[in-house]
Amino acid sequence: MMHSIELINLTKNYPKLKGYKDLLLHPFKKQYLPALQDVNLTIEEGSFYGLLGPNGAGKSTLIKILSTLVLPTSGRALVNGFDVIQQQKQVRRSIGLVVNDERSFYWRLTGRQNLSFFAHLNNLSGAEKDKRIHEVLHITEMEKDADRMFSDYSTGMKQRIAIARGLLCDPSIIFLAEPTRSLDPLSAKHLRKFIKDEIIYRHNRTAFVATNNLHEAEDLCTHIAIIQNGAIKSCGPIEKI
Ligand code: ADP
Ligand code: MG
Repeated sequence: MMHSIELINLTKNYPKLKGYKDLLLHPFKKQYLPALQDVNLTIEEGSFYGLLGPNGAGKSTLIKILSTLVLPTSGRALVNGFDVIQQQKQVRRSIGLVVNDERSFYWRLTGRQNLSFFAHLNNLSGAEKDKRIHEVLHITEMEKDADRMFSDYSTGMKQRIAIARGLLCDPSIIFLAEPTRSLDPLSAKHLRKFIKDEIIYRHNRTAFVATNNLHEAEDLCTHIAIIQNGAIKSCGPIEKI
């Protein structure tokens, strides 16, 4: 079986902003904030892997590195066998990123117009673009609301459009950052079932979900890794953890 994701001693240090005192006393000394420390993890194809940890643990940093938005300080990360530093293009073509940030959409455009804009950024155009938008709207069950303004959508619908955007390139690996944050418990449960059945298993995708909600991890994942202070504390099949 191929590894979908492989992390080898992955480390990320963010430069730390210095206060006035440090600037005066040590003007040239750089300070770092370690966000990930020597992370090793292997994720097999077809698994639904949860990254569970409190705020500040390093979850978003890891997902940003895997989607080539942030460069690691040292170590390696391979996505679909491609290196996130040397093969960024191939990495981006293999992944879909679903972030829980509605500000990344245009509120005065419709759902369909938003998808069209992001499809262009993904180098899709013409008939191929329209076909793909039709498909992702169908998968996320947003066809009938596709021509309403984004600002009119409920939180759950916004999240579905975010998922649709993540599916535009028909990626084999999907990253989900706190997919049900800000949803009420019932809608959250419904969306989780939908993600699991329709987005991941039916299409044989690998999923990597960052969450600080144990219940969500249990509900969705086949495997989990527990992360704290930038280090993996334990990982494996969910029934063992
Ligand atoms: P999580 O998503 O698990 O809440 P993050 O990956 O966002 O954790 O953050 C991990 C650590 O890195 C935190 O201490 C956070 O303050 C720090 N951090 C995150 N992004 C940056 C950044 N762009 N610059 C400096 N420090 C950052
Ligand atoms: Mg985060």
